[in-house]
Amino acid sequence: MIKFLDLQKINAQYAVELKQAAAEVVDSGWYLQGERVRLFEANLANYIGVKHAIGVANGLDALRLILKAYINMGVMQEGDEVIVPANTYIATILAITENRMKPVLVEPDINTYNLDISLIEPHITLRTRAIMVVHLYGQLCWSKKLEIIAKEYNLKIIEDNAQAIGARYSELHIGNTWKHDDIKKSGSLGDANGNSFYPGKNLGALGDSGAVTTNDDELARIVRALANYGSTKKYVNDYQGINSRLDEIQAAFLDIKLKYIDAENHRRREIAQYYVENIKHPAMVLPIANSQQPTGNSHVFHLFIIRTANRDKLQRYLTENGIQTLIHYPIPPHKQLAYKEWNGLNLPITEKIHNEVLSLPISPVLTDDEVNKIIKVLNAY
Ligand SMILES: *Cc1c(COP(=O)(O)O)cnc(C)c1O
Repeated sequence: MIKFLDLQKINAQYAVELKQAAAEVVDSGWYLQGERVRLFEANLANYIGVKHAIGVANGLDALRLILKAYINMGVMQEGDEVIVPANTYIATILAITENRMKPVLVEPDINTYNLDISLIEPHITLRTRAIMVVHLYGQLCWSKKLEIIAKEYNLKIIEDNAQAIGARYSELHIGNTWKHDDIKKSGSLGDANGNSFYPGKNLGALGDSGAVTTNDDELARIVRALANYGSTKKYVNDYQGINSRLDEIQAAFLDIKLKYIDAENHRRREIAQYYVENIKHPAMVLPIANSQQPTGNSHVFHLFIIRTANRDKLQRYLTENGIQTLIHYPIPPHKQLAYKEWNGLNLPITEKIHNEVLSLPISPVLTDDEVNKIIKVLNAY
């Protein structure tokens, strides 16, 4: 059986370093808010290219703490609207409703599966305060047009960067070359950005963790306080915060894995390119090839998504042939019981995507033989 994602194999690559780091943390007697968290935050900020990285307990907390900080700063308030793609993982939406703000669901582009930026403007009202973009499946959702809209309507842009760490954006595409010093990474594009290090993400911890990345000094200070009971100084509480801290042991693991993220993303992109060039079946829609990406190395292929009309049949066929696949995601947020009030909304593109998508195995440890087998089985369908 070819596994969809072999986490054991991914972490086995770094087992010696990881075990050494774990032993050091055990022996140190210091498990929270210590040197290892500080070091990882500095290295992450440097990697992403922002002034501040604040480690938190998970990716959902990163997003909800950003909104909570804006509320504490007086930039946003309960009842304000946040524009968000209808086609996303539920966590994006939960971060908004948890702050008693209103998600305004906007349809995706059927080719990228990301928020259709051309549909944003008609959804802007006097209560709109932010656009939360999701780089779904690892593909950047960003454009000059998005920046212009945000500026014109005075909206914050928040990136849900849970799936796209390491993706690069450049607006300067001259011929076939990129002006390298203008390349920015995901997690540095928005005003404030949420990252997840859930084990299955491209940069995965060995447990839950996440981070907020930003260049905004005040926001960084408030997020840091909010994640630690609203406290800036021990037993002095300036805000009504929560407990959402990054563990020393996870920070130590992440610092090791951060060194390899570019190499791992490179392998993912290589596999994706090979899939795109070699899967040839009239019933399957493939993602956009690397070379056709509009904004540089903008897809880090957290997931490799194909679309097909009879998805469940294809999935059964692949299972019978020893290939494990998953569905990201089977039920859109507006059809969930958790959001009963939206169940009647009409979002046909989002629903079509949910009915047709299938995620093929992709990971830095998938071998060439496995990739070839998957292609062969798919082409014989
Ligand atoms: C994983 C994920 C999150 C949440 O991250 P956790 O660390 O699991 O809380 C948020 N948004 C998207 C798009 C994700 O894929």
